[in-house]
Amino acid sequence: MDELILGFRHCGSIIYCFQLPQLCPICKNVVSFTCDTPFRLPYPFVKAHQHPLSIVLKSTKGTFLEHYSCNEDLHIGITDCKGKVYEYDSDGLKKSNGEEWLQSIVVYEKSEEWSYDWSHALRSVASDPKWRSENYDEQTLNCFSFVTEFLTNLNCVETKKEQFCEEFVYKKIVSLNKYITVHRNIVKDGYCNIKN
Ligand SMILES: [Zn+2]
Repeated sequence: MDELILGFRHCGSIIYCFQLPQLCPICKNVVSFTCDTPFRLPYPFVKAHQHPLSIVLKSTKGTFLEHYSCNEDLHIGITDCKGKVYEYDSDGLKKSNGEEWLQSIVVYEKSEEWSYDWSHALRSVASDPKWRSENYDEQTLNCFSFVTEFLTNLNCVETKKEQFCEEFVYKKIVSLNKYITVHRNIVKDGYCNIKN
């Protein structure tokens, strides 16, 4: 389990840390948490297998917190009604229990009433023989192609990668980048401060 991030206000900054300190790391004065209630920075990650009927994103290599860099492409997959993860990459289409998806974010999801349609669309798209490893192409046939084709099938409206990212992915990535930056600074310096 990753450590949770706590924040509190002091001497004109918001200070983030894993454990509340007795002395403020900036001004070195004693911190009184009775007047400045600490808060928790919402943890953005989920375990994909606990989120059925979802489109999930992960860092292509390793985890978001440790390995992701902002200009890197992300890997995207689909969970079925039982939380199994379907993904297409250079090894071809794979289905797993989500062992590699323990630090993911959900960018799109449907409620349980969609179970039948979701399963039907997923079966139909996954059965297309084109998702073989030899057809994989980083630019033209990749993990996003699999997901957008699935969404097109599910919603009966053509979904394009740019439009999908614009609507569902980019906003999430902005707040995610903030969380990752704060987390890495705490790991490095013991705290992270952002001017109020
Ligand atoms: Zn202070």
